[in-house]
Amino acid sequence: MPGFEVFGEKEKQEILDVLETGVLFRYEFGEQRKGVYKVRTFEEKFAKYNGAGYAQAVTSGTVALKVALAVLGVGPGDEVITQGFTFVATWEAIFDVGAIPVFTEIDATLNMAPADLEKKITEKTKAIIPVHMLGSGARIDEIMAIADKHNIPVIEDTAQAAGGTWRGKHLGTFGKCGTFSFDAVKTMTTGEGGMIITDDENIWRNMSEYHDHGHDHVPNPGGRGGEGSSFIGFNYRMMELQGAMGIAQLAQLDGMIVAQKENKTAMRNSVRKLPGVTFRTLVDEEGDSATFLAFFLPSRENAQIVNRILQDNGAGAISFAENTWHYYPKWEHIINSSTVTDSGWPFKDQDGRRRVVYDPQNLPGSAEIMNRLLVYQVPIKLPEERLQQIDAAMEKAAAEVG
Ligand SMILES: *Cc1c(COP(=O)(O)O)cnc(C)c1O
Repeated sequence: MPGFEVFGEKEKQEILDVLETGVLFRYEFGEQRKGVYKVRTFEEKFAKYNGAGYAQAVTSGTVALKVALAVLGVGPGDEVITQGFTFVATWEAIFDVGAIPVFTEIDATLNMAPADLEKKITEKTKAIIPVHMLGSGARIDEIMAIADKHNIPVIEDTAQAAGGTWRGKHLGTFGKCGTFSFDAVKTMTTGEGGMIITDDENIWRNMSEYHDHGHDHVPNPGGRGGEGSSFIGFNYRMMELQGAMGIAQLAQLDGMIVAQKENKTAMRNSVRKLPGVTFRTLVDEEGDSATFLAFFLPSRENAQIVNRILQDNGAGAISFAENTWHYYPKWEHIINSSTVTDSGWPFKDQDGRRRVVYDPQNLPGSAEIMNRLLVYQVPIKLPEERLQQIDAAMEKAAAEVG
């Protein structure tokens, strides 16, 4: 998924435009900026690329989720449903607006299991955040049908799936909002950065104002001084240098995906050599952004043995079951209710009573899937020697466990 592989001349040129004006702020500086509005241009291009009405740039993918939640009115006392396999940022954002995350099982798509989503909806559910993990779409049609039936807004966490589609429509455009990350290891990178897309003009206006201290952007777009404010906001503004990089990276996104698809096919042909291997279910192979290759071995023990052989031969895979940042039972801080607040909020009430407990055994269906899962990141540039190394490692593993 790394856009850093293609980072170079195009980014430099865009950044030079900013350095020539010396204006780093996305608003104001009328004369001095000589018409250069990199963040605004990036937003416009990003919305257009995805086929969305509006885009709001922010400082990170985590903040993108928080801003979307805040503007949808989610707060203390509310529950937000997401999945037990995601990056911690998804539920950090839920806690940050004062709400409580509720986790669903995943299925062989490695994304939200729709049947479990339906079971976890309560009268407190205020939003649903399916995550398009590891570059490929969730069962977004089924999830949207359930959400619509209960009249609950959906925010698609598309941090890992920029450029991905489902039946030709971009991921991130099915729910009320779609959020993206441009951090250092994402498919498109601006170092740090994020974006929210929506078709709803009112949601976009509120996001625009909320992320900019609540400045009234209607009569006075981005202006400073005597204008009013409709509500209390915060500062999550992206700076011009990031906008410049975003423009350059977005222009290369489709090309990155084409290269990844080719490399993924080559890697899959090697992985196929493992006895009993099966691959992650893709809801739309055409729309896969192909940033990761995910496969299952017949048992946990088999996956561990195979990965040890792969590691010994220079081709170790990622075992997300062991990863402390992406998988529910491994999130020790949420399991242990660890917080920096003296009061213990949000895990404890004001009277000190536990208000929410996360049991590591809660998601047995996900454990069955995750324990057998191995994953490779698919690079944009895959040298022939590296492919040969992977292939040789697979043959060794196949011979030993066969
Ligand atoms: C990276 C990521 C985020 C957060 O993005 P940052 O820009 O790093 O804050 C959110 N959700 C998922 C699924 C991610 O992978």
